[in-house]
Amino acid sequence: MDEFGLIATYFTRPARHAAVRLGVGDDAAVLAASGQEHVLTTDTLVAGVHFPDAAPGFDVGYKALAVNASDLAAMGARPLGFLLSLALPAIDETWLGGFRDGLFRLADELAMDLIGGDTVHGALTITITAIGEVPPGEALTRAGARAGDRIYVSGLLGEAALGFLMRAGRVTLPEEFAPQVLARLDRPRPRIAEGQALRGIASAAIDVSDGLVADLGHLTHASGVGAALDLRRLPLSDAYDAAFTTVGYDAALTFGDDYELVFTVPPERLTALHGVAAKVPGGFHYIGDIVAEPGLVFRGGPAGYAPATGGYAHFRS
Ligand code: ADP
Ligand code: MG
Repeated sequence: MDEFGLIATYFTRPARHAAVRLGVGDDAAVLAASGQEHVLTTDTLVAGVHFPDAAPGFDVGYKALAVNASDLAAMGARPLGFLLSLALPAIDETWLGGFRDGLFRLADELAMDLIGGDTVHGALTITITAIGEVPPGEALTRAGARAGDRIYVSGLLGEAALGFLMRAGRVTLPEEFAPQVLARLDRPRPRIAEGQALRGIASAAIDVSDGLVADLGHLTHASGVGAALDLRRLPLSDAYDAAFTTVGYDAALTFGDDYELVFTVPPERLTALHGVAAKVPGGFHYIGDIVAEPGLVFRGGPAGYAPATGGYAHFRS
């Protein structure tokens, strides 16, 4: 099988959105303009860096799309489609079949069309460029938080960290918690419904890919404010409680890979927030407040508490 057989076999199927005028198979895809603003984002996953070389194709396909869709969620966008650039060391049909199934599982859940891409021979690397839409001027950004806004998170923190640490043999968890934390690590659910529900309510938003401390730091930096986090309010699971003596608050604050949304809400929009909170899967958890003074302070924990590291960053030594 060559490049073209591979594309035809694994990555060609009819589009669901009428806006996709032309998808896989021509020199480029054509999307109809819709009167909405387009939201574009790209993320690359490299074997050995973002996932173990031996990771099942299904999980790699699912997560490659999930991390991109999570960025659309953080912008409040409705997902439309994506481009897939694939560098493969060899054609391993078992792996490719799994990859395609994981990719399309999430694509179907989120109603996203694969509209094109590129396929080359090289070290296993997956780049996805995702496209969504928002009503003009309504995209959520990192820059709108103001002192007095409340800080919320869309679901549990630290579950992916537990999955990673458990798999690495660095924490021991009661057996019953293993499926839940590994699922959160391998197949994160982007908070698409939440992101769209927060349009017109959140003053700023970001998704937690590198850890709450790092990502909230990006939000406060872009907004020119600071944050006070209440450690007693962090949404932590029973699994997390079981590992707390080993991981403390650090795993929830700095590991990342949770793909929850962190967002801020001005006091006058709290009623609107409560109105939508009941309709989304993870609920919204109040975890702290935006303050005028730049920086991040921790309340409610041990005196002088600060996490040992800041969060994940490529090229940081
Ligand atoms: P070109 O040489 O014109 O860039 P390619 O031969 O790279 O075209 O790709 C042929 C078609 O297949 C294009 O429509 C491209 O978008 C699509 N394509 C290539 N690789 C993938 C992939 N991994 N997933 C989906 N579509 C792909
Ligand atoms: Mg090409």
